[in-house]
Amino acid sequence: MTLADLALVASSCTRCPLAAGRTTVVFGEGDQNAALMVVGEGPGHEEDLQGRPFVGRSGQLLDRLLQEEMGLDRKQVYIANVVKCRPPGNRDPEPAEIEACKPFLDQQVDLIDPSIVLTLGNFATRVLLDTKEGITKLRGRSYPYRGGMLVPTFHPAAALRGGGEVLAQMRADFVRARRLLVPA
Ligand code: URA
Repeated sequence: MTLADLALVASSCTRCPLAAGRTTVVFGEGDQNAALMVVGEGPGHEEDLQGRPFVGRSGQLLDRLLQEEMGLDRKQVYIANVVKCRPPGNRDPEPAEIEACKPFLDQQVDLIDPSIVLTLGNFATRVLLDTKEGITKLRGRSYPYRGGMLVPTFHPAAALRGGGEVLAQMRADFVRARRLLVPA
């Protein structure tokens, strides 16, 4: 199974109720051999329309941080979400939706085999680390994950809302990720 095969399977997925409300499945995009994989929560309005992850305001901030703190263009990384279809009204995905969709993400991580997975926000971090602990406690260090390391940070939307301190901590987390990165 290649990443393209998997994307094809996902494109017609009806494993959970989110399928009914989506415009497009947002499978993920970027370098299939990337050393860095970025994982967000799920598609928002703009992502659902375009079929691409992180293309709205959060995505612009993500692109900036990748460039400024890691010297990376978004084309050099692989970007995906925990769930591939937009939850209505941008609510958090339900446990059954996560369970239905998680095999796609697990296979993406295993096929891409990044040295670092950077999780954005409470939601993605908790799902991948299988914990109820909050992002404020979890960030600031790295964790072994599927053969590489996981670096948790805030969601860019939190920095857009919360301003300076959150952004400064995100920058520190991106630098942490850069230092741990093993070039692909
Ligand atoms: N927020 C996310 O978590 N993922 C996206 O793709 C866009 C916004």
